Amino acid sequence: MIITKPRDWARIERNLTEIGARRVFIMGCGQCATVAGTGGEPEVREAARRLEEGGWEVTGWAVGEVTCHSGGTRLESRKHDTEIAGSDAVLVLSCGAGVQTVADAIAKPVFPGLESAFLGNVVRHGVFEERCQMCGDCVLDRTAGICPVTTCPKGLLNGPCGGMWDGMCEVVADRECVHVRIARRLAEQGRGAAGRIEPKDFSAKLKPGSLNLRETRRRGTGDAR
Ligand code: SF4
Ligand code: SF4
Repeated sequence: MIITKPRDWARIERNLTEIGARRVFIMGCGQCATVAGTGGEPEVREAARRLEEGGWEVTGWAVGEVTCHSGGTRLESRKHDTEIAGSDAVLVLSCGAGVQTVADAIAKPVFPGLESAFLGNVVRHGVFEERCQMCGDCVLDRTAGICPVTTCPKGLLNGPCGGMWDGMCEVVADRECVHVRIARRLAEQGRGAAGRIEPKDFSAKLKPGSLNLRETRRRGTGDAR
């Protein structure tokens, strides 16, 4: 899931003030931002309270099922047509993908209410960890399912670096060096050392990424970039 964090509130107020917006509609997200505790109903209500405290009028709010889903967001917007029409701006409490989906669906100035942080594993309720940066050229086959690109603070593929001390990471001192973990897991599984991993093919991560399943199925390929 996409992990989001609260955005500097002063920046949000500045965004609204800069365009002279006095009436605001708020849109949350029922998926990732709800799970992350940043853009669900409680957070949307809290944003509404803060806006009203600051002198803004909140014309209404909604928490879309999946805000980055174009069709769903258009549908959700239509349900709140009048409140949106009566607003000067829309504040979106979701990741940047959701903000852009709302901006495509609504002909009003749209502002992000959160910061998008990372693609996160849910370790347990309320605890998230970044394990993959979606590099498009996965090396987990060589590294016993532990990603050095993401979990090594330096992103080293062929570590450990010279700063590793007694098996621990020099950057995150209370964490074991990821390359020590990789070597141990490979040994536990009776596999040889990872060996030299070639420099990553960054062309595999062309931006913007896109995948059109309808098109690829029609052509009989599964290519995505
Ligand atoms: S190597 Fe790339 S694709 Fe594989 S887990 Fe790491 S960041 Fe993700
Ligand atoms: S000690 Fe290991 S995990 Fe930490 S920065 Fe160096 S190579 Fe990466």
